[in-house]
Amino acid sequence: MQFHLNGFRPGDPHLHPAKPPEQTDGRADGQADGQADGQAASHVDVLIVGSGPAGLTLAAQLAAFPDIVTRIVEQKPGPMEKGQADGVSCRSMEMFEAFGFAHRVKEEAYWVNETTFWKPDPSQPSHIHRAGRVQDVADGLSEMPHVILNQARVHDMYLDVMKRAPTRLEPDYSRQFMDLTIEPGTDYPVTVRLARTDAAHDGEVEAIQARYVVGCDGARSAVRQSIGLSLKGDSANKAWGVMDILAVTDFPDFRQKTLIQSADTGTILIIPREGGYLARLYVEMETLGEDERVRNKNISVEDLISAAQHVFHPYNLEVKDVVWWSVYEIGQRLTDQFDNVSPLNLEGDVPCVFIAGDACHTHSPKAGQGMNVSMGDGFNLGWKLAMVLQGRAHANLLCSYSAERHGVAQTLIEFDQEWARVISERSDDRDDTPQFQKYFIEHGRYTAGVSVKYTPSLLTGNDQWQLLAPGFTIGMRFHSAPVIRLADAKPMHLGHTLKADARWHLFAFAADEDPSAHDCRLARLVDFLENDPGSPLRRYTPLGADCDTVIDFRAIMQQGFRTLQVSDLPKLCWPQKGRFGLVDYEKAFCADQRSGTDIFDMRQIDRQHGCLIIVRPDQYVADIMPLDAFERLSAFFDGFLLPTSTNG
Ligand code: FAD
Repeated sequence: MQFHLNGFRPGDPHLHPAKPPEQTDGRADGQADGQADGQAASHVDVLIVGSGPAGLTLAAQLAAFPDIVTRIVEQKPGPMEKGQADGVSCRSMEMFEAFGFAHRVKEEAYWVNETTFWKPDPSQPSHIHRAGRVQDVADGLSEMPHVILNQARVHDMYLDVMKRAPTRLEPDYSRQFMDLTIEPGTDYPVTVRLARTDAAHDGEVEAIQARYVVGCDGARSAVRQSIGLSLKGDSANKAWGVMDILAVTDFPDFRQKTLIQSADTGTILIIPREGGYLARLYVEMETLGEDERVRNKNISVEDLISAAQHVFHPYNLEVKDVVWWSVYEIGQRLTDQFDNVSPLNLEGDVPCVFIAGDACHTHSPKAGQGMNVSMGDGFNLGWKLAMVLQGRAHANLLCSYSAERHGVAQTLIEFDQEWARVISERSDDRDDTPQFQKYFIEHGRYTAGVSVKYTPSLLTGNDQWQLLAPGFTIGMRFHSAPVIRLADAKPMHLGHTLKADARWHLFAFAADEDPSAHDCRLARLVDFLENDPGSPLRRYTPLGADCDTVIDFRAIMQQGFRTLQVSDLPKLCWPQKGRFGLVDYEKAFCADQRSGTDIFDMRQIDRQHGCLIIVRPDQYVADIMPLDAFERLSAFFDGFLLPTSTNG
């Protein structure tokens, strides 16, 4: 990470200087963080309802902007401590890297390296035997592991990011969303009423006026209802139990993620948990009748334990402590849209109320997608809100949120329906490899979270120049690869330069030529970016601001790092920034030629011509083009960015 740009600051560099208290941005009460005196801001740019994974991902991103007033409210009295989701996909880990806490999760979490599959032993069907085991994440899918960590700890990491951000944002607990009204055409069009639920303020109602409201309030979302949306889809017909336990067992794969399918007593999924001792068991219970609900079945934790013990047979399972448990019914459901504007949108309206996470899609938890897809929603919306509120992008950028994430949720629902069917299907003894093992292998990319692909739009180019770098798919997340930072020879991942700071990125992969030559392709690109009136850097960087404030340019050379020096490269590869004009030495990289992990080979980048890759603030590849496709480059950013009045 970089710090000291504008002067030496002692202490923890993760603790950003706090926003000055006078920066209240027109709010009525002038409170900086909504915490003082129990009285919080009544006029906000963004009001987030719900502090689950979706709400906290969004809040952590917006907390970085001192000029954006964000509040996050939560009906519970404090942060979550246990329970709910625990699967963190490789893709979410890549996103955590952008928030700066992937290393903490890596250290604390259980790593899912292998998955094993058990089914009835054909020679003795009342016994189970191991039918297969597979590597959980295929080599090269991501530089990040698939891990298991309780949702509550993921929340803690986000809360920590928020607390250290310039806005020192913290959730306002014990506040329950009641309803909202929208008055179009006003500065703060959404008025929200919150019920205070703590003893000191019981019965009080608080009104907040917001430019934007985001309902991250879970499957029973009141925000969703307030904008007239509903979850549609399959009604649940299968009861499942989940319990986090401390147990003693002779089952040999208790520390592997394991799916056990018994002959007639259902299916169990074992998820080993962080810390080395804890484990989660998902236990298939009974099929529900047409109008039956799981809450009326009076299923107890003893029922779950007994069902699990039957499936484990002939192995023993002695449960010493149940830390958390729950029963639920599977239902795959989705709303028609994720905002308050009709999908037809003939008037060209811009949404001011959004929903994210379980508020718009619900599904079974066993594929481990709930927390991940919800965080993906928050990440997608966060930078868009930031850019619009900072006056950097057209407000209609916000329409892309529902358009993009609805497609992702639709795929999730379809995947989950199929997965739920496959794992509840009775196994066929004649088949050596269980169906669920085959399905698991086939869908590895999906469960790792790396198969999301946005279709061509304002934010995603067509595939005209995809051939310049087939290993970076337009519309998919930037698949990181190793590089060596030129100035200090640091081996690192290029993707780890992408932070959750709402900036766009231009990666120039240099052609096979001397990058210090004054007329090389890289030099001509830099000349365009620095000097041409049509350059997006010139049009969209506020006058006097650092050159990478809105669009961050970096160059990656094919040569070994010992053969080049930074100061021979075009100036944009070592720009001067900040109040002292210090040189940023972290913009130029070389292929890692020592270890056989050359990014040009790994991602099949055209060595002769090089290429330019535009990467979105949420790490998705927006477009790929030749290094001299200046018009295409300008047209892309002109499609949604707003030139500031002070631009040159
Ligand atoms: P949530 O995590 O549900 O967060 C919503 C937040 O909004 C909550 O903190 C809630 O208190 C708050 N809220 C709700 N209404 C209001 C209101 N009116 N005003 C203010 N705040 C409000 N997934 C798994 O993978 N495995 C599991 O075992 C599992 N178990 C679960 C058990 C339960 C009881 C629940 C509710 C969910 C479970 N899930 C599980 C699902 C998983 O937790 C979700 O997919 C994921 O948390 C979705 O994140 P979210 O932020 O959209 O919603």
